[in-house]
Amino acid sequence: MPPRPDLPDPSPALAERLAAALAAGAIRPAFQPVLDLRSGAVAGFEVLARWTDDLLGPVPPARFIAVAESAGLIAPLTAHLIRAACAPARAWAGGFRLAFNIAPVHLQDPLMPALFEDSVREAGFPIARTAIELTETAAITDAEAARAGADRLRAQGVRLSLDDFGTGHSSLARLQSLPFDEIKLDGGFVRGMERAATGRAIVGAVIGLGRALGVPVVAEGVETAAQAGALVALGCDFGQGWLFGRPLPPEGVPELLRARGEA
Ligand code: C2E
Ligand code: CA
Ligand code: CA
Ligand code: CA
Repeated sequence: MPPRPDLPDPSPALAERLAAALAAGAIRPAFQPVLDLRSGAVAGFEVLARWTDDLLGPVPPARFIAVAESAGLIAPLTAHLIRAACAPARAWAGGFRLAFNIAPVHLQDPLMPALFEDSVREAGFPIARTAIELTETAAITDAEAARAGADRLRAQGVRLSLDDFGTGHSSLARLQSLPFDEIKLDGGFVRGMERAATGRAIVGAVIGLGRALGVPVVAEGVETAAQAGALVALGCDFGQGWLFGRPLPPEGVPELLRARGEA
């Protein structure tokens, strides 16, 4: 479909272009390493969606994921991304885990667990080496359905990760409502650590919470060696951010694994 500059609201046109991009295989996975902060080894990768449109240029995922959700494209987009990430990752050395972002509304969809499992299996990647990051775009309305979906996936070894902890809907209430295996501390708190003692206290408290619950904490948005050092001093387990590696196309990952080793 041609672009529709006549439309007052750009998002219907964006939804059409997104549907076409999805059909053409133009939504691609990028892989960002998650490091074991003590050993420096690669423990896993977060898969992030990337789309460069011929006319619009690069479209940020925060924007097109929202469009996909409202246009009913999130299930096919997620399935495509899982296959497109698992297929190359199958050949890479090591026991790293692949983490996918899933919106909470999607977790309560009774069809989502089968979609996830089938997409991973079709691509030939071990399902026990995947994880789901529950993002914070929306509240869970059907807690029982979300719990059933989480239980079914966890029974196969899929790790359930609470994304962007401390912001929006990613709260203590959610931590209590679902069986999380990991907490991802939002990058805003990592940046806040350097600014004030309050920031350090918050990060330290979340790491302590993880320890009390017996789940590891992953710090996001680690950009400087000073931040990494402060996180290690506070006992943080894992880190992710530009200091350790930007999101990479699949072709770039084998070299990173050779340079960094794996956990
Ligand atoms: P997120 O899940 O919190 O992902 C982390 C975001 O932080 C990514 O932005 C990543 O590129 C960025 N980032 C990584 N390291 C650093 C750093 O050191 N400093 C800073 N400032 N940023 C860093 P990105 O790729 O633009 O994705 C934005 C959001 O879009 C993601 O936030 C996630 O909520 C959503 N998203 C991305 N891909 C998918 C997807 O496949 N499905 C769903 N449902 N959501 C996705
Ligand atoms: Ca995430
Ligand atoms: Ca996050
Ligand atoms: Ca986020």
